[in-house]
Amino acid sequence: MSLFDAPLFKDAYKQLEDAADVMGLDRNILERLKYPKRALQVAVPIRLDDGSVKTFQGFRVQHNMTLGPGKGGIRFHPKVDLSETAALAMLMTFKCALVGLPLGGAKGGIEVDPNELSRQELQSLTRRYATEINMIVGPSIDIPAPDIGTDGQTMAWFMDTYSQLKGYTVPGVVTGKPIAIGGSLGRAEATGKGVAFCVNFAYQKKGLTIGKDTTVAIHGFGKVGVPAAVDLAEQGAKIVAISDVSGAVYNADGLDITHCTEWTKSGNYLKDLKNVTIISNEELLELDVDVLIPAAIDGVVTKENAPRVKAKFIAEGANGPLTKEAIEIITKRGGFIIPDILCNAGGVIVSYFEWVQGLQNFFWDLDQINSKLHDILKDSFDNVYETAQKYETDMKKAAFISALSRLERAMRLRGLFPA
Ligand code: NAD
Repeated sequence: MSLFDAPLFKDAYKQLEDAADVMGLDRNILERLKYPKRALQVAVPIRLDDGSVKTFQGFRVQHNMTLGPGKGGIRFHPKVDLSETAALAMLMTFKCALVGLPLGGAKGGIEVDPNELSRQELQSLTRRYATEINMIVGPSIDIPAPDIGTDGQTMAWFMDTYSQLKGYTVPGVVTGKPIAIGGSLGRAEATGKGVAFCVNFAYQKKGLTIGKDTTVAIHGFGKVGVPAAVDLAEQGAKIVAISDVSGAVYNADGLDITHCTEWTKSGNYLKDLKNVTIISNEELLELDVDVLIPAAIDGVVTKENAPRVKAKFIAEGANGPLTKEAIEIITKRGGFIIPDILCNAGGVIVSYFEWVQGLQNFFWDLDQINSKLHDILKDSFDNVYETAQKYETDMKKAAFISALSRLERAMRLRGLFPA
């Protein structure tokens, strides 16, 4: 597979080109942003519990580091490949630039179904992967974090392996660590909380208030979907549908989010939940709700189902859940889309806080973290909204334009080496 083959890469790059056209970006800048700075593919052989050896394919891509060290998650999923990883790294470059972080864009992953491995096998996989990519990561080079299929434990193994190789503890090599080893308060909920903040900002822009009549459907009830649901329920909204890979559950009177969270945290599938109506993931996306939050995987709303998506506000919790055509269809009918690089930036913002706290060895309290998170997202949301008005364009292109403007300034100042 070539670097440019994944649908997500093609889609992300097309969106970038469109934004560049609208703002009249210098083509030389675009030319430099098409290619990742560095892409490493590694073999990750491990011994399975039955004694046999299996080799997995691992990747780490650093897209652009003009603004600072690379930042981006590590994904363990059967669909991971070089091109998808490059696309996600590219999105990280724009996400960090958009919210004003001194960080570049990176992403990594292993082509694996983590559900098929034991805890010991997962540990071996993570440690071998960390060893294979250790020469291109580090607190000043590239700082991984959790993504789909990885969590705080994965980061703890990664950090420990990197530290063993260095001979001393290096907490700043990853973020999303458990609190006991230098993680930040609020990191686990940050992405979902940020999604909920952004829905609130969008409501405010339209002169509306979130209340008991605000209905919300959430596609993907995981690390992003759960805290988004909790926060919006706290704001008074009615969460009428949620889903996981097994299917979706619906209750017109609102779901008991605390119960649903306990249910899934205990390892149960939503399809087995009692006293709810079971619907399909596809049906959830098309519900007549005020707010739809696709927070599972990319490419779930396409030109085929977009005409049937009725939500007034769509908050892209996942990376790239709406294709470019879907965004055009929904924007044309007046839907308000909060683009992924803004909407789900809460995670990387608090990851940045974790990195800073680790470098200082000085830790902040939860109120400080949430209030700084709120302020950065509010400024970024306002910036994107004003950019959309200035260029008479949609929020998605406006987000890319804002990010590109910051990157362009920095790239010009640093220049091209050799000149
Ligand atoms: P997760 O693994 O914790 O949760 C994913 C959820 O989606 C689970 O409920 C899972 O059952 C469901 N799911 C998986 N495949 C599905 C499918 N085919 N159809 C329907 N549901 C499916 O992952 P996460 O960390 O919540 O990430 C979700 C998305 O958000 C990803 O696109 C990720 O890149 C993005 N994201 C995550 C973070 C973060 O901090 N975790 C930050 C930014 C962006």
